[in-house]
Amino acid sequence: MRSLPAPIYDSVLIYDSIVKEKRRFTPKRLKKIRTDVHDAYRSYMAHSYCLEKLAPITILPLHVKSLIHAYVTETKSMRSLRADLLKPDLDDFAHCPYCGINEPRTLDHYIPKESHPEFSIFPLNLIPICNQCNSTYKGVKFLSAGKRIFLHSYLDAFPDFYFVVADISIGTKIEINFKIESNPAYLEFSRLLAEHFNCLNLNDRFKYQASVEIKVLRSSLHRIYQVNSDFSDVAQELNQEADDLKKVLGKNHWKVALFRGLARSREYCDGGYAKLIK
Ligand SMILES: [Zn+2]
Repeated sequence: MRSLPAPIYDSVLIYDSIVKEKRRFTPKRLKKIRTDVHDAYRSYMAHSYCLEKLAPITILPLHVKSLIHAYVTETKSMRSLRADLLKPDLDDFAHCPYCGINEPRTLDHYIPKESHPEFSIFPLNLIPICNQCNSTYKGVKFLSAGKRIFLHSYLDAFPDFYFVVADISIGTKIEINFKIESNPAYLEFSRLLAEHFNCLNLNDRFKYQASVEIKVLRSSLHRIYQVNSDFSDVAQELNQEADDLKKVLGKNHWKVALFRGLARSREYCDGGYAKLIK
C-alpha cells in the first residue's frame, strides 16, 4: 500500500476534448452541464481531505447517462487519458497501490461514477489499481457510516511510519498474520488504513504471497544459519533485506512487513524457517 503522485492535467481541457469527440446528442448534453461539472471538480479539490462531505450534483438522468457514456464509450481523448494514467513514469509501478501485489491494469473511480457521475472522467478520481482490488473488493464502495473506507492514492499521503505489521508465530508450523498497527499520532489515518486493509481482504491475500516468499527463503537462510548456528545471523540478513526493500517499495509494502516480522521472531530465525507453513 502506498501513495501515488497526483496526475497533473487540465481537467477542463480533457472534458472539452472528450465532448468534442462524442456523437449524436451527447456533446449537446455534456455542454449543457459543463459549468456544473467544472464546479464539481473545484469542489473535489476543495474537499481533498474530506471527500466524504462532497455532495453529488443534481442533474437529469439523461445527463447522468451522458457522463457515464463519456467514460465507458471510448474516444481518442479518453483512450489517451487511460493510457497515461495506467503508465506513469514511476520507479515502482509494477504493483497496484491499493494492495502492492498485482499489476495496476484498471482504473478505479475512487468516488463511484454511479453515485457521482460528474467525476466519471475527472483524472484525479481515476486511480490505477489491479483488477482483483477493483472488481472483487472495491467495486462501487466508497463510504461506510459516512466515513471513507479506502485510501485515496493521490490525496492520502502516508505518514512516515510502519503501519503494516506481520506477526509470526512458530508452533509445529509457521503461522503468519498481517495487521494494521494504529498510530496514536495518526488515529484517523490508522482507522482509514484498517478499513482499506479489511475491505480488500489484505490479510489473506498477503498471507498467500508470504507463504511463497517463505518457501523461497528456506535454502538461503539455512546456508547462513549453519555457519555459526546463530539466530542473530539470520535476523540480520532479514533486517538487511527489509531495509533494501523499503527503499524501493516503501515502509508499508507487505514484503517489508514480512521480512521485518520474520527478523523479529527468534524461533523462526533459530531454525524455525525450515518448518511448514500453516
Ligand atoms: Zn490491488
